[in-house]
Amino acid sequence: MKYIVCLTIAFLASCSSLPREKSPGQNFLSPTRWTRELKLKQHVSSRSERYVGSQGSGMYVVIEPGVAQARVGRRVISLGSEPRLWQGAIYLPKSAVAIIKRNLGTIKKAPITTQHLEWNPPTKDRVWNYIVVHHSDTSTGSAAVFHKHHVEVNGWDELGYHFVIGNGSDSGLGQVEIGPRWTKQKHGAHAKTPDNKYNDQGIGICLVGDFCDGEVPSETQMNALISLVRYMQKRYNIPKKHVLRHGDVKPTNCPGEYFPWHEFKSKILP
Ligand SMILES: [Zn+2]
Repeated sequence: MKYIVCLTIAFLASCSSLPREKSPGQNFLSPTRWTRELKLKQHVSSRSERYVGSQGSGMYVVIEPGVAQARVGRRVISLGSEPRLWQGAIYLPKSAVAIIKRNLGTIKKAPITTQHLEWNPPTKDRVWNYIVVHHSDTSTGSAAVFHKHHVEVNGWDELGYHFVIGNGSDSGLGQVEIGPRWTKQKHGAHAKTPDNKYNDQGIGICLVGDFCDGEVPSETQMNALISLVRYMQKRYNIPKKHVLRHGDVKPTNCPGEYFPWHEFKSKILP
């Protein structure tokens, strides 16, 4: 009897300490409506508080408390109702989870192959000593989109990178697009330094996405990057210490603070 009374008091105490404005409301305790099913991790940045998580497909979902929109990969979708915070966790109405899952199912993915003959240049190999990794700092894009920007806005001859790895927006998720510079075995235009060493001898790889604000590349995109980098390391004898971030060669935060650099380096060749 005493035990039951204590439990009741504890329960009432925990209820009264709920921050009212942050609780999902009357229906919160009804598991038919609210769920934490997506298992999103909190990221707090100067700009916003966001919840980010990788779903089974390797695609990332990003939501913000109080905002009735989600980003699935780089696609912004309407949820119909707002995710809410309760006791430090984010909850979504089940109807919104269904919308997210439906969208996850429509993301086009690049086919996974282990042999990548298409990455062999069709002409005599240039001497490559470095690999420089970038993010596009944009939510969407593809080789064609960046090519247009580099020509029309930057006034360059063509796409600055050698390869672009898609995020499911304007090209496939994890799709490796080969730029015209690679086909010609021409120097890059992605990592300018006074001696131009990294443009001359560096293979420029860009992941579509903005990894500065809590978002991270999807697993599918990272796997494509790891395959591409390992392949190039092997073909051109490029040691791990010559696989660099754009930010390692000049002052920039590219490919973003949330890019999982150390994990990536642990998965490439020595
Ligand atoms: Zn960059």
